Amino acid sequence: PAPAPRRPIRELPDELISQIAAGEVVERPASVVRELVDNALDAGAHQITLRLLAGGVRLISVEDDGGGIPREELPAALKRHATSKISNLAELESVHTMGFRGEALAAIHSIADVSLLSREVGSDDGHAWMLHGRTGELAPAARTHGTTVEVRELFYATPARRKFLKTDATELAHCLEAVRRHALARPDVGFAVWHEGKLVEQWRVCHQGEPQAALAQRLGDVLGQDFLAQSLALDWQGQGIRVWGRTGLPDAARARADRQFAYVNGRFVRDKVISHAARSAYEDVLHGQRQPSYALFIEIDPTRVDVNVHPTKIEVRFRDGREVHQAVRHAIENALAKPRSAAGTEAAG
Ligand code: ADP
Ligand code: MG
Repeated sequence: PAPAPRRPIRELPDELISQIAAGEVVERPASVVRELVDNALDAGAHQITLRLLAGGVRLISVEDDGGGIPREELPAALKRHATSKISNLAELESVHTMGFRGEALAAIHSIADVSLLSREVGSDDGHAWMLHGRTGELAPAARTHGTTVEVRELFYATPARRKFLKTDATELAHCLEAVRRHALARPDVGFAVWHEGKLVEQWRVCHQGEPQAALAQRLGDVLGQDFLAQSLALDWQGQGIRVWGRTGLPDAARARADRQFAYVNGRFVRDKVISHAARSAYEDVLHGQRQPSYALFIEIDPTRVDVNVHPTKIEVRFRDGREVHQAVRHAIENALAKPRSAAGTEAAG
């Protein structure tokens, strides 16, 4: 067929730009859950409560007890490229918040019905404010300090995307996985998830001050006491890099790679360098297709890792991948070697 006649270059309307951008950030309800929980954590929340309807498609509500948003800034929260977290390039390069792009709420707002209910800590006007995203209406409301973001009817404006969603049960499972990823990294924060009016998960705040002890408690709560019993603490320090957390005994290996949690400077990541390093640490002790389980926390100088390579920040780029590979591999090998030699001594004695 003949090519369509060329049309002049035009800037896209704002709303369409947002909808296109939304496609990169929001794949399914779990993506919204991840972004909203990121925001709650950035706001300093101690307790985060999620309420979902129909696997999150009809409603995702995330309530936190963080610092809140002042009334006059509520409309800006839904604007594209609007953020309170960075203001220049230097801050981008050493960013320590989960968010910084100022895109999530705008993206979600362009493909769903969003409302914000917030009361700023120490606000003196005595009440909270509610912003209806669709109408732009701002009205006084009641709540204690913190923020509740409600997202209704995801993808209502983009039915083609909505068709890709799976059953409510599957979408709920993805949402729970997103919360689990956050929960393992933040034992100091309590999480509760309600679905269709029923409490489906609840992880209480761990008051353990020591990170390794707090992680152990949270891992037991989230993944089960059996996982905890079948895992080992690890802590390995190299040049400008530390790898700590817990890794499963070979017996705790699973058919699926569904218990592999890796974090870089507190952010959950999917990374081939890390998963390959972990896999190779288990080389001699895991057979066939069995998958190791772990929760690894990699702490590295923020200037040695770029988190701004993917809209959802689930992928990162290391300046020196080999160094990270070695650190992860050594950390796990060290931990695994200990009980094996102990068992050997026992057998010998
Ligand atoms: P980013 O997190 O990258 O800044 P978002 O679109 O996720 O971008 O959020 C925009 C802004 O709205 C944030 O920078 C923050 O100031 C504010 N905000 C969003 N959610 C919350 C919340 N739960 N508590 C306090 N402020 C929030
Ligand atoms: Mg954000």
